[in-house]
Amino acid sequence: MPYPETINLPFNAHALGEDFVPARQGDEDPGGPGIWLVFRGDALALESGENASLAGGEQPAWAGECRRRLLIGTWQGKPVRVLELDTDAEIPPGHLVEPLLALFFHQRLSDGFLSLAGRAQQILAWERRSAVCSRCGCGNGAIPGTWGKRCTGCGAEHFPHIHPCTLVLVTRGDEVLLIRKPEWPPGYYSIPSGFCDFGESLEECAAREVEEETGVRIRNLRYVGSQSWPFPAQLMTGFTADYGGGDIVVDRGELEDAAWFRRDRLPPTFSSASIAGWMLETFGRVR
Ligand SMILES: [Zn+2]
Repeated sequence: MPYPETINLPFNAHALGEDFVPARQGDEDPGGPGIWLVFRGDALALESGENASLAGGEQPAWAGECRRRLLIGTWQGKPVRVLELDTDAEIPPGHLVEPLLALFFHQRLSDGFLSLAGRAQQILAWERRSAVCSRCGCGNGAIPGTWGKRCTGCGAEHFPHIHPCTLVLVTRGDEVLLIRKPEWPPGYYSIPSGFCDFGESLEECAAREVEEETGVRIRNLRYVGSQSWPFPAQLMTGFTADYGGGDIVVDRGELEDAAWFRRDRLPPTFSSASIAGWMLETFGRVR
């Protein structure tokens, strides 16, 4: 298995393997049948047979009136296209229409197709927010060969925004430090995490986030690996650390709880297909 193991998690390019060849703006659509990622708002429409799958073949007739069509690459030589429907578009019976995050947690798709849908969602999110120049308000045009844009008015260039985040698994002897957010399913806990701030290294972000959320200081920070997280465009970087001091003070603005848990008695947590769940399973749990 390639190192680091996290490279194998879904949404990372490795999960697409050699089946997928990415396209860029300006690449010509070869036409003909392909694979269709049909989005209505944030929900993806799947063909729901015994197993849910992406639409294949010719463009689905019911998706004819779309507001956006993008070629994002080829899968096993077949064009992969994203279609964006109007938010009130009707999707015929026989389809499962679910947000990508729900598809991920319910394991409705293979890692390969899930990763393809994740890439599609990131590109679509970028296309939605980059139509107009954020500097002068004129329309943006494509920079061929990239996903970047150039303003037709002031010439400013804009490139996709990817947001780095850190996640830290902190241990203290036989215990791990876990947090709970109010919007999570009942009883669920996970590891502290947060977005990088201006002028901050990943290591500084990791230490700050743990201390802000829980009051705990860390030492011996070690990088584990990373996962692309298309909700809408984060790069999750995972670390382990040792307890370095401090008592738990819960940040009530963000969290419902923070606590030390014995490693042989961990509470419910998220799927180990997410880097947070994977790290807890790999480094936190005692079996
Ligand atoms: Zn401009």
